[in-house]
Amino acid sequence: QAQRLEGIDKNIWVEFVNLAAKYMTVNLGQGFPDFSPPSFVKEAFIRAVSGEKPMLNQYTRAFGHPPLVKILAEFYGKLLGHDLDPHCNVLVTVGAYEALFCTFQALVDEGDEVIIIEPFFDCYEPMVKMAGGTAVFIPLRPKGDPLFSGNWQLDPSELENKVTARTKAIVVNTPNNPLGKVFKREELKVISDLCVKHNLFCFSDEVYEWLVYDGREHVRIASLPGMWDRSITIASAGKSFSATGWKVGWALGPDHLLKHLRTVHQNSVYHCATAAQEAVSYMFEKELALFGTPDSYFVQLPQELKQKRDRLAQCLTEVGMEPIIPEGSYFMMADISRFKTSVPPSNDADEPYDYNFVKWMMKHKRLAAIPVSAFYSTPHKKTYEHLIRFCFAKEDKTLEAAEEILQRWN
Ligand code: PMP
Ligand code: GLN
Repeated sequence: QAQRLEGIDKNIWVEFVNLAAKYMTVNLGQGFPDFSPPSFVKEAFIRAVSGEKPMLNQYTRAFGHPPLVKILAEFYGKLLGHDLDPHCNVLVTVGAYEALFCTFQALVDEGDEVIIIEPFFDCYEPMVKMAGGTAVFIPLRPKGDPLFSGNWQLDPSELENKVTARTKAIVVNTPNNPLGKVFKREELKVISDLCVKHNLFCFSDEVYEWLVYDGREHVRIASLPGMWDRSITIASAGKSFSATGWKVGWALGPDHLLKHLRTVHQNSVYHCATAAQEAVSYMFEKELALFGTPDSYFVQLPQELKQKRDRLAQCLTEVGMEPIIPEGSYFMMADISRFKTSVPPSNDADEPYDYNFVKWMMKHKRLAAIPVSAFYSTPHKKTYEHLIRFCFAKEDKTLEAAEEILQRWN
C-alpha cells in the first residue's frame, strides 16, 4: 500500500450506505433525492441517447463536451460577473468529487497546509493528504442560539492565526454540508481578504448553490474583489438537477490554475460520459432561458425543499431531537443528547457516540441518518458526537415514514 493511503481506508459513505441497505431503513442518510428529477431532465437524457446524434456514443473533448462548456461559460459568466472562456475557464469532471480531487492534486504540494472549516464534507481531508499536504482545521462555533445554522461562525482572528508560511489554500463550502450554513457576504469577505493578504488559493465547493431558503443569498467567493485569479469554484449537475447518479460536475477558474487541473484530469479520467454532458447542456439552455422565473427548476427546487425542511424540523422538535435549522443545502443536523438514556453507548470506547447511536437506530428503528462527527477532524470528533445529520430531499411519504418511527420511539 502506498504511504499516502495510510489512515484513509475507512469511508463514512461506504460504511453507512451499506448499513442502511442491510437494515432496509427509511433512508434519511446519504444525500440524494429519492424523488424523480423533473421531466425536462429525464427528457434531456433520453434525447441525448436517442440516436439522433450517433457521435454522442463516442469520446468527446477531454476537458468538457463543447456544447456543455459553452453554456456553462455563458451561465456562470453572468453569475460570477466575469467573462468565461469555455475552453480555458471551465473543466467538466465526473461529479464535483473529481473536480475536488483534480483541484487538490493540481495545486497542493508536499508539505503544504490547507485550511478546512469544520464541519466539512469528509473527502477534503483525505484528498489533501493524498496530495501530500496537511489539513489544518478551524471550527465554526455557535454565537447565540446554536439551533440556527447562521449563528455558527468563524472567529476572524482565529482564522488568521491558522495561516503559516506553508498555507496554500482555504476550502470554503457554502451552503455547507452538513450544517446547512450559507456564508454571508461579510463572512466571505473576511476569508477573501485573508486570501488576498497572504496570497492563498480558495477552493470553493458550491454544489448546493441553488438550495438556499428564507431569502438568503448564495454568494460566490470568486466574484469578490481580488478572488477570480486565485479561486476554483466547484459545482454539480447531480445536486442542481436532482440527478446525483449522473456524476457530472465542473470546476471554474482562471486558465493559469485550471490548466493544472486539466493535467490531472487528462492523465486520470480523461472525460466524463458524452451523453450525460450533452443532456446537461440541454438542461442549462432551458435554465438560462428561464433564469429567475417561477418556471426555473433552480427556483422551484428550493421552494419544494423548504417545505420538507420545515416538516422535518417540526417533527424532530416534537420528539425532542433538537434540529439546527439550515439556511441552505438539503441537510439538517439534530441534537440527540436527550436520547442518550434510551440508547446506551457501545462497548467500543473509541467509537464516537453518534456512530453508535445511528447504527443502533438503523438496526432497531429502521431509520438511517449520518453521524456528524464524521464531518470533524479526529481531535474534534468527541465534541460533536451528540449530533446526527438527516437528509430531507425525500418524498413526502419517506418523511412520513420517518415521522412515524420517531413518534413511536418509546
Ligand atoms: N461536495 C459536497 C459538499 C457534497 O455534499 C458532495 C456530495 N454530493 C460533493 C461535493 C460531491 O458531489 P458529486 O456527487 O457531484 O460528485
Ligand atoms: N454528498 C452526499 C452526502 O453528503 C453523498 C456523498 C457520498 O455518497 N459520497 O450525503
